[in-house]
Amino acid sequence: MAKTPEQDERFDAIIVGAGFAGLYALYRLRGAGLRARVYEAGDNVGGTWYWNRYPGARCDAESLVYSFSFSEALEQEWEWSERYATQPEILRYAEHVADRFDLRRDIRFERRVASAHFDEIPGLWRVVTDQGDRAQAPLCLMATGCLSVPQIPDIPGLDDFAGQRYQASLWPHEGVDFEGQRVGVIGAGSSAIQAVPIIAEQASRLTVFQRTPNFSVPAHNAALDPEFVEEFKTHYREHRRLHQRGLASGFGGVEIQPKEFAPAAPSALALSDEQLDRICEEWWEIGGARFLGAIGDTMISEEANQLVADFVHRKIREIVKDPITAEALCPTSYPIGTKRICVDTGYYETYNREDVRLVDLQTTPIERIVRDGIQTTEEHIPLDSLVLATGFDAMTGALLRMDIRGRNGQRLRDKWSAGPRAYLGLMAAGFPNLFLITGPGSPSVLSNMIVSIEQHVDFIMDCLETMKIRGVEQIEASPEAEEQWVAHVNEVAAATLFPKGGSWYLGANVPGKPRVFMPYAAGVGPYRKICEDVAANDYRGFIFGASSRDA
Ligand code: NAP
Repeated sequence: MAKTPEQDERFDAIIVGAGFAGLYALYRLRGAGLRARVYEAGDNVGGTWYWNRYPGARCDAESLVYSFSFSEALEQEWEWSERYATQPEILRYAEHVADRFDLRRDIRFERRVASAHFDEIPGLWRVVTDQGDRAQAPLCLMATGCLSVPQIPDIPGLDDFAGQRYQASLWPHEGVDFEGQRVGVIGAGSSAIQAVPIIAEQASRLTVFQRTPNFSVPAHNAALDPEFVEEFKTHYREHRRLHQRGLASGFGGVEIQPKEFAPAAPSALALSDEQLDRICEEWWEIGGARFLGAIGDTMISEEANQLVADFVHRKIREIVKDPITAEALCPTSYPIGTKRICVDTGYYETYNREDVRLVDLQTTPIERIVRDGIQTTEEHIPLDSLVLATGFDAMTGALLRMDIRGRNGQRLRDKWSAGPRAYLGLMAAGFPNLFLITGPGSPSVLSNMIVSIEQHVDFIMDCLETMKIRGVEQIEASPEAEEQWVAHVNEVAAATLFPKGGSWYLGANVPGKPRVFMPYAAGVGPYRKICEDVAANDYRGFIFGASSRDA
């Protein structure tokens, strides 16, 4: 249905995206009495959980903590069914939030923001969508998500394939029935690792084309025990406080039990083989991404990291019966955790099925995709359907796809040509009143995203309140503060093993993308403290200015 574009309507704020970040930003802005407009490319709310409908898609943070904390009524009334919620359940939650807080009336769906230009004289962001909407506001919030631009691989012959082709992150809403089909999956990251066991149950034959193996830890997913949930909900405030303060190392805000908030041992190097094995086994049994937090120096010491990786290699060899497949599934080219660790349900076990096969592209690379399958250097593999689980142009992709221009017409694309630069991951110098929610330089993808979204939006709201009290209308990052912050983000990353991963954290999965470690690796607790300290010290590093509208 044709949409009537909005023409030059004036708002107090424009929000790009109606995922969790956009929804919470809208809720808070409205609560502050501001009139906001949200533009969203999808036809519903939910962001990443709207688009990623591939079979097996579920969160790798536990449901009880991957949820909003801003409303006690919401957190008490919403009932999660499983330890790790499925994509449909999380999408229902996002829809419930939108309806419960009556957010939809300010969201315009099926509109992708094409450009956002800062007009200095009135001090306004002028935003244009692909549907021809034109809107303006003094404030613009980018809630565009960190993993929202699919990365389509440049494999020769991709468009020659005559069967059905699917991108994991753009899955058909009506679902796909692979019954009786020969299916190929390209990729071995989180998306593939979740999809493969489910596709294997339907397909007559499944072939996984793996270039680099990933480390995966079992989810041990199960229905949530009502007694446990009740107990957890009784102490929700304390749980939230711990997640926000990030008492754990590494992944902030995913812990459930008190013991998970601190490593079981500070260093792998001080442990006997038996002690290390016992701890790793215990955390493997707890399951999930916090396995990386079991030993304090896993992400700092290469030697310690190798010991933890060896444990996972042993697990893979124990589970996968065919020794050649097991070896191909053991990652050896990077330290564990430096590529985002995966969380699975029966992934390695799937390779014990007779109808599932792993093709190791390191020994037999794809030569080209042909009409009826894939030709490797060794053989022709016939396929009816092809699934691309090939990842995303992460963190900067969605921002740079838009034509964003700040002061003096400076393009964000040009400013970030050598990699993203933003003070606290929140604001780029030269782009006044443009806030990046969970932008590069903030903990974002190394944390529970909802914890980090709420923290950023709360920071922005406090900042707007301060501006209102002072009667100023503009804020921007100072170039010096931005410079220092970018150096600090690099310094923190360099003290860890993260940069050794060749991961999407570094932009290494996108040909030609600058290699810069994008998230802030010190954890959500230290980051929150820094932000609080900045606010308490007169928003140190930010410059306030009156809008020229008042001049
Ligand atoms: P990903 O981790 O970037 O994995 C992409 C896979 O595609 C890699 O195995 C990559 O191989 C392969 N690939 C890319 N181009 C290729 C080519 N030309 N030929 C052969 N293989 C190619 O992407 P993802 O699995 O979508 O996951 C991305 C992130 O999304 C995750 O790390 C996670 O943060 C998030 N995610 C979360 C969940 C969850 O919450 N449960 C689920 C899915 C995704 P190389 O490694 O060799 O490049």
